[in-house]
Amino acid sequence: MLEDVRSVCYRVRRLSGTAGYLEDGPYIWGTDPVIGDRRPSSHGVLFLDELGEFPVAALESLRQPLEEGVIRVSRAAGTAEFPASFLLVAAMNPCPCGEGVYKGACSCSVVMRARYRRRISAPFLDRFDLVVPVTRPTASELLDRVPAESSADVAARVAMARNRADSRGPQEPVLTKEATDTLSRKLAEGELSARGLGKVTRVARTIADLAEAEVVNDDHVSEALLLRAGRSVVVA
Ligand SMILES: [Zn+2]
Repeated sequence: MLEDVRSVCYRVRRLSGTAGYLEDGPYIWGTDPVIGDRRPSSHGVLFLDELGEFPVAALESLRQPLEEGVIRVSRAAGTAEFPASFLLVAAMNPCPCGEGVYKGACSCSVVMRARYRRRISAPFLDRFDLVVPVTRPTASELLDRVPAESSADVAARVAMARNRADSRGPQEPVLTKEATDTLSRKLAEGELSARGLGKVTRVARTIADLAEAEVVNDDHVSEALLLRAGRSVVVA
């Protein structure tokens, strides 16, 4: 898996132009990308920095390729279809000034904050598996220098989890009754969409694989739900 990730092109994209440019441009990158080439490759990683600064139409144009793994470009001469199975990663501030999560620090007006957040629609956000708020580290966290888990250790855990997933195949995850009850409750309360259900279940299965568990239990599901909880921060 890590070899796969290293072999694809990792592309960082900031605010740029119109939705038309995103549709036409080489915004899907893969093993053989050529800027300006109209044959975009697939299986790349697309990182959109400052997500809240992109035009709404540009972001919404990503919904179809995210769902279908292909992108269609229609022009007078006809419609072309390109492979576009990519991993979308994005980052954004809580508000235009970036201080929105710290009490009393935000200098944005209510209108500015609302306009900024309106760029990210609930259906677009629903397509993200993980939405995680990241706060600034405290002074003691920066100064205490507690050793973090090494990248090599993390890579070994990821490889182990992927091997478990590969050996299991594409079968539906097996959930405990408690885990199923939790998901049923979230669906009934309207906190989980049908699409979100599939995403939470898959993330919970991955968490279970990382824990070397055969069955997805309530703890795995609860952690997967927590990893989507940042949606409420983005779409207020
Ligand atoms: Zn602000």
